[in-house]
Amino acid sequence: MNQQSTHFVIKGGRLIDPAAGKDGLFDIRVRDGKIDAIGLDLKAEDATVIAVKDHIVTPGLVDVHLHLMKGLGAFGVDPDIFGVGSGVTTVVDAGSAGHTLLNVFRNYVTDNARTRVLNYINLSTLGGVSGPGYSILADPRLIDEAKIEQAVEANRDIIVGIKIMATGGALGSQGLKPLERARKLGDALKIPLLVHIGESWTKDTAPVHVGDVLKHLRAGDIVTHMFTVHPGGLLDGNGNLWPQVRDAKESGVLMDVGHGLHNLNFDVARKVLDQGLHPDGVSTDGHRGNRAGPVYDLPTTMAKLMALGFSLNQVVEMATVNAAKLLGRPGELGTLRVGQAADISVLKIEDKEWRAVDSQKGTIAAHQTIRPVYAVRGDMIYEALTVERP
Ligand SMILES: [Zn+2]
Repeated sequence: MNQQSTHFVIKGGRLIDPAAGKDGLFDIRVRDGKIDAIGLDLKAEDATVIAVKDHIVTPGLVDVHLHLMKGLGAFGVDPDIFGVGSGVTTVVDAGSAGHTLLNVFRNYVTDNARTRVLNYINLSTLGGVSGPGYSILADPRLIDEAKIEQAVEANRDIIVGIKIMATGGALGSQGLKPLERARKLGDALKIPLLVHIGESWTKDTAPVHVGDVLKHLRAGDIVTHMFTVHPGGLLDGNGNLWPQVRDAKESGVLMDVGHGLHNLNFDVARKVLDQGLHPDGVSTDGHRGNRAGPVYDLPTTMAKLMALGFSLNQVVEMATVNAAKLLGRPGELGTLRVGQAADISVLKIEDKEWRAVDSQKGTIAAHQTIRPVYAVRGDMIYEALTVERP
């Protein structure tokens, strides 16, 4: 049950806040929606006690790539399902809205959600309207810099970048011209690009080489679907990282998981990780079509990264402070501070042998699960939705 409380203490849990250098038993007291104290064994006095012994408490988790316009195309999902219903306090839509739909997005998605909903505006006027084929997104008639600029300037509080599909299917005969236009626009507006790689939807077109895409990216831009098995991914035919990938990483280009229906492949992930390339952001690429598996939610995606060898602290770091940096909001998101609005996740880690399943139904042994329990925003405590998970 969700509950509202003007004065409560989250008591007895292990707080992991990598940005603040905290890992230990800390209580958090919230008064009138703001963090009032973080400390050892805080007195509850007249406050409601949220008892979370044997739980993990973190700054509100951030899922940096989803599709959140319910009713739009095949994918749109209510943000609170992957958001506060999954123990996550911030979710970011990846390109559902072009400039034409941005006000609709703001009014009907961001303003109605219990979860904080941010947005990557689609380079294409159509945004996600055209469905998963995305074959006309790069039509030059559907890229209107002046209108995008207006939309971004009017919505800087929610816009974190520009989404573009860098696939043969989407770019077609336009080649990299749309990416060049996105680059110029991103530079002018001082916002990064979120670039989808991998031919996950269209198989009948020549893939775009990731090296050609990366030439146009710079520090702060984000490549999503870093573990895709589809043509156009980070690995060459021998399973080695293309040299341009290392160069890009060194120059500050960020890498996001973007699990989704198609783009988390454990074999690819192992090869990429073995060569030292680690994710900056962990995201579900959540939508209507993958909630019931293979994705489920961000905590389960984090547990899959643990099965790939990351520690709990590392995956929490990815989903908090690193996600905040990726979104250009360090300090504001991804860490807990006295005086700030409460923005907290509560998780349950369990030792359990299970087979983690990737987007191609490949499996690996996993030893722990991560279950969302609560998401706290201000004076609201949201209980995680029950969903069939592995
Ligand atoms: Zn996506």
